[in-house]
Amino acid sequence: MPNTTHMRIPSNRVRDIERYLMTELGGLYPEGELRMFVRLLFEAFLGWDTPQLLLHRENTVNQSDLLRFHWAVEDLRRFRPIQHIAGYTHFCDCRIEVSPDVLIPRPETEEIVQQAIRRLEGTLREEANLLDLCTGSGCIAIALAKRFPRANVCAVDISTKAVAMAERNARQNAATVSFIQADILKPMPALPHSAFDLIISNPPYVQEQERQQMERNVLDFEPPVALFVPDDDPLRFYRSIGQYAATHLAPTGLLILEINEHFGPETCQLLQQQGFETQLQQDFRGKDRSIIAIRNKK
Ligand code: GLN
Repeated sequence: MPNTTHMRIPSNRVRDIERYLMTELGGLYPEGELRMFVRLLFEAFLGWDTPQLLLHRENTVNQSDLLRFHWAVEDLRRFRPIQHIAGYTHFCDCRIEVSPDVLIPRPETEEIVQQAIRRLEGTLREEANLLDLCTGSGCIAIALAKRFPRANVCAVDISTKAVAMAERNARQNAATVSFIQADILKPMPALPHSAFDLIISNPPYVQEQERQQMERNVLDFEPPVALFVPDDDPLRFYRSIGQYAATHLAPTGLLILEINEHFGPETCQLLQQQGFETQLQQDFRGKDRSIIAIRNKK
């Protein structure tokens, strides 16, 4: 470890705290990300939104809040995710609590949920059945349940700790979701609903060999079970989900999957063999990131 002594926050004035955070972490994170950190920390610690933060620049915070900012900077120095420091993140108008037991919801996933909502809006029957597999924090299921309050939303995860966190998130967002602990790679238990109008999933899809390219904030703090698949079988979750969807999707139902950008065509091909028509979609970075599939009519 390099022997560095760090400055202390020069005063408890808001603008000094802000400047301290920007300069102390300047070499470690891009400026845009640091501005997001500042906004999220003031929101999490003091309940201020961005306009309030601007208005309170000349105010001071009390000693215990000052200490929280101090520790936040120390945590960010060792790449603890900002969402773990804040305790939550925003996802499709929901506030989703996160911990090391669940994957932190990503903007790519938010984009896929927004696409799913656009597809379903106006066409979804009353009391439709929706299913989210590998739900983690519950973010996808909860966002869908909020948008379609009359739908029956089920969500499944292998981890009991994730299910507990997801249940808590549903309660806090006043969303009704039935969470079930089960492993999609094994025979599935009966779920409260079937003939799903939508099956959606963001399963683990990162190959072990991709570890080298990954950031420390992911590798050191997020659950490997939610991220990694073996190098020799990177599509294992898609095979199981496709099989399940082939028998549990309503005839006109949609299957929407987040995917590894390196396996777009292969994942489409696998689903086609399982009887689906597929459409590959790119994310806001232009990478192959999701597949929308429907059952082949033939
Ligand atoms: N997109 C996530 C990441 O890059 C991985 C999500 C997943 O495995 N489903 O860290």
